[in-house]
Amino acid sequence: MNKERRLVIAGNWKMNKTVAEALDLVNGLKRELTNIKEVDIVICPPFTALSEVSKAVINTNIRLGAQNMSEHNFGAYTGEIAAGMLKEFSVRYVILGHSERRQYQKESDELVAKKTLAAHAASLKPIVCIGETLAEREAGRTELVVGTQLRGSLAGLSAEQIEETIIAYEPVWAIGTGKTATAQQAQEVHAFIRQQIAAAHNETVARRVRIQYGGSVKPSNARELMSKPDVDGALVGGASLEERGFSDIIKNSI
Ligand code: PEP
Repeated sequence: MNKERRLVIAGNWKMNKTVAEALDLVNGLKRELTNIKEVDIVICPPFTALSEVSKAVINTNIRLGAQNMSEHNFGAYTGEIAAGMLKEFSVRYVILGHSERRQYQKESDELVAKKTLAAHAASLKPIVCIGETLAEREAGRTELVVGTQLRGSLAGLSAEQIEETIIAYEPVWAIGTGKTATAQQAQEVHAFIRQQIAAAHNETVARRVRIQYGGSVKPSNARELMSKPDVDGALVGGASLEERGFSDIIKNSI
């Protein structure tokens, strides 16, 4: 597929996989994906598996991501993990502001912006998640909600930092529900996000920033989603937990 920007496809394993299960999956992915050069491939295991998985992906085309991090660098923050700690395991990406964290941990746009700045300061690539609920979509508030989250979650970033940020558009109603936004619905919101970035910064930044789609991506819908001009990859939950599902999404996207 001829894309303007390099595709980035990330698997969010959420709170799944013991170390042994994680190694099984990553060894399968290494076999399946060894020849893929066209896509940035990222897996985001739970923190407890990062150490072993990081050893398993050395000298491969699979990069490591984390699912969250603290906005602080160190100190009395019980249960938190700092960017510097992730870097000890060669983590390169970090998912921030996932809708599950916004919902269950009450993460605000302001907090996500602090974490995003901290990630950049540590040279980690943030994957910043935004997206509307079903009620918000049905009330015709998608652009309002997505625009507000975008501005709030990227507040304080320089144009260069925005360029190095990956935005994941994840309509909450499509996450883990089996309901995918149509490729056209995804394209419309992605184009809106790019246009907002152009207005807030400039056309060059908007042209370079990569916007992933997330929400029930599977092998059967990946090709159509990725064929849209403003869709630059995917953030995959459920289907990334199996070797075949995740590798077929990647193969079907190129
Ligand atoms: C996600 O949680 O980021 C996600 C997109 O999940 P799923 O693919 O299972 O909908």
